[in-house]
Amino acid sequence: MIIIMRHDAPKEETQKLVDWLESFDLMTYPIVGQATSVIGLVGDTSVLDKGNIERWPIVESVLKVQEPYKKANRKFHPEDTLIKVAGKLGGATATAEDIVIGGNKIVVAAGPCSVESSEQISGIAVSVKKSGATLLRGGAFKPRTSPYSFQGLKAEGLMYMLDAKEDIGLPIITEITNPSQIEMFNQYVDIIQVGTRNMQNFELLKQLGTLRKPILLKRGFANTIEELLMSAEYIMAGGNDQVILCERGIRTYETATRNTLDISAIPVLKKRSHLPVFVDPSHASGHAWLVEPLAKAAVAVGADGLIVEVHNDPPRALSDGQQSLTPEQFAALMQDLQPIAEAVGRTL
Ligand code: PEP
Ligand code: MN
Repeated sequence: MIIIMRHDAPKEETQKLVDWLESFDLMTYPIVGQATSVIGLVGDTSVLDKGNIERWPIVESVLKVQEPYKKANRKFHPEDTLIKVAGKLGGATATAEDIVIGGNKIVVAAGPCSVESSEQISGIAVSVKKSGATLLRGGAFKPRTSPYSFQGLKAEGLMYMLDAKEDIGLPIITEITNPSQIEMFNQYVDIIQVGTRNMQNFELLKQLGTLRKPILLKRGFANTIEELLMSAEYIMAGGNDQVILCERGIRTYETATRNTLDISAIPVLKKRSHLPVFVDPSHASGHAWLVEPLAKAAVAVGADGLIVEVHNDPPRALSDGQQSLTPEQFAALMQDLQPIAEAVGRTL
């Protein structure tokens, strides 16, 4: 952090500021120039509020030279974080290998927006697994814009997902909407999803930090990349390092698509952080026909995984049918992604 002093700052007042800064165990390096003087600060400046320093009448402005996120920062952790999800499941007949997220293989989660029945989720699980998906997605607790829309089957839906996981052998990813669900999710869910609307639910993030389980953290639709990384930091500060970031489109003035996929967020996140990055082309686009081109773009720019909505009967889906692929379309998508994955030196 660099503090730029007002040119007329009296010496005694400057000394008071230096003493106050040093009380935070920081080292101060004053540089006195003809017109401008600055104080360089070295140490853990995360304890300081930039705004508080700027409130000192002798301070002109304050420059931060380091990102406020530490644990999620690639500078302090240059190697990619790998997150393991157990592939061998309780009663599953398949003896799948562990799934590694963030490695050479691009991991694909697929399934319906909402779990609607036991037959629906199990049927979709069979078909997406056959096409190469390694995780089953599905919403049981649904955060809907309208209170009159289908709110999900809740705990019953989660149990249907568990049956599908055991029978078909696909680990599950599903969204948590409230800290009161933590225990249930910790017991049953393989990857806990934090939805776009909850990215800054700090009480929820703190609770998730106490777990030792992978968390897929979706970017808020009106949040910056730095805010996403600060939310990851909340989970990591609690001791849970297993965070997967997810770009799912942000709100812009454009109305042709449901959201605007921020394609540059993927390389930016990969550069700034060591955490794996997923892309959700379904919620980003809002249209089934756009899922394929956006998924291809995501793989081409370095996404570590995709989360894709697939429904057995999209026109009758209880949520997000317009953006859901049929199982056949999903199978074709997986085929089409193959050469792109190869071109960037990865497998699918
Ligand atoms: C979802 O994946 O089911 C979902 C609701 O996504 P988002 O939070 O990105 O809207
Ligand atoms: Mn959805």
